[in-house]
Amino acid sequence: MSPSERWLGGLQAKLLLSHLLVVAAGLITVFAAAGVTGPRLFERHMAGMGHMRMNGPGMAAMYAAMEAVVAGAFRRALLETLLVGGAAALFTAIVAGVLASQRVAGPIRRLAAASRRIAAGHYAERVAVTGSDEIALLAASFNDMAASLEHAERRRLELIGDVAHELRTPIATLEGYLEGLLDGVVEPSERTWARLHAEAGRLRRLVEDLQELSRAEAHQLSVVVKPVAPQAIVQAAVDRLAADFAAKGLALNVSLAEALPEVQADPDRAVQVLTNLLTNALRYTPAPGRVDVQVSPAGQAVRFSVRDTGIGIAPEHLPHLFERFYRVDKSRSRSLGGTGIGLTIARALVKAMGGRIWAESPGPGQGSTFSFELPAAR
Ligand code: ADP
Repeated sequence: MSPSERWLGGLQAKLLLSHLLVVAAGLITVFAAAGVTGPRLFERHMAGMGHMRMNGPGMAAMYAAMEAVVAGAFRRALLETLLVGGAAALFTAIVAGVLASQRVAGPIRRLAAASRRIAAGHYAERVAVTGSDEIALLAASFNDMAASLEHAERRRLELIGDVAHELRTPIATLEGYLEGLLDGVVEPSERTWARLHAEAGRLRRLVEDLQELSRAEAHQLSVVVKPVAPQAIVQAAVDRLAADFAAKGLALNVSLAEALPEVQADPDRAVQVLTNLLTNALRYTPAPGRVDVQVSPAGQAVRFSVRDTGIGIAPEHLPHLFERFYRVDKSRSRSLGGTGIGLTIARALVKAMGGRIWAESPGPGQGSTFSFELPAAR
């Protein structure tokens, strides 16, 4: 028997004992009251019957003897009644005590057993919730805790599977090229080295993104917010990518509303988010096309929108874009250098800065708009 079981056994014993103590206290009181006041009351009633005494020689002595016999009979009858009543009370207390203590200790014992099974890795374990008392409340919150543990465990396993899957493709490509070079099937040309280099770069990006993702999932992204001018965020992101847009033949336009308030943001992280949206717009917009960056006030926040004339997104994909490794077209995204993690990290960063991020698109081939809002600095 484990210590917790022993304790629970103790709890049941204590509850039963408390019932017995109540009965014992009741019995002592009743016995004491009956022993002290019962005979006195009886004697008073007998004395009240004095007027019925008959005079005559020997009558007084006979009456006294009769009184003693009646008093004795009364005491015995009283004692017997109390003993029978006491035994009945004791029996009832034991039955009620056992039932009540089982009702309390039983569910706690089941909770203890379920928590041991969860600790052993059986995350699907749940306990039955009956009634609406405190124990039912405890069982319900235990089940909630078990459900979130199960969810976290499932996500952990999915992540390991996803990571293994994502690493397999670039490693297989690298291996293929190297084998081809060893066998003399692939020419050791500049083009080959460039492809090997690109593949290694993709692997490095993936590992870096994974590192960010694991920090985001553990809520450990370093985000230090302070008032920042939205113009500075846009300028930094656009400067980073302007040359790539020009090289692909895409027009990049920026339109900033007048008198924008400062935003409460981590400048580097805000630039990272906008850069990510612009990189996606660049990646998923074929030339000739255009990308518009718009910044406007939105209530107590400032909205940053990136609209492209690219491949667009079907409505059924929109709710999933921010999930890790979610890609509308896996092979297209991978061949364009995507890791499927960018938007997941962007969402974690925006959330950490107290904002929100979302995607809109009229449909495939009709472009998309990705927007995020950051709270305005007071
Ligand atoms: P990736 O690195 O694959 O681009 P993201 O997390 O950045 O990963 O984006 C997830 C998916 O969302 C992409 O694979 C792509 O299918 C879709 N997506 C993102 N941005 C755009 C866009 N501007 N136009 C169309 N689809 C997009």
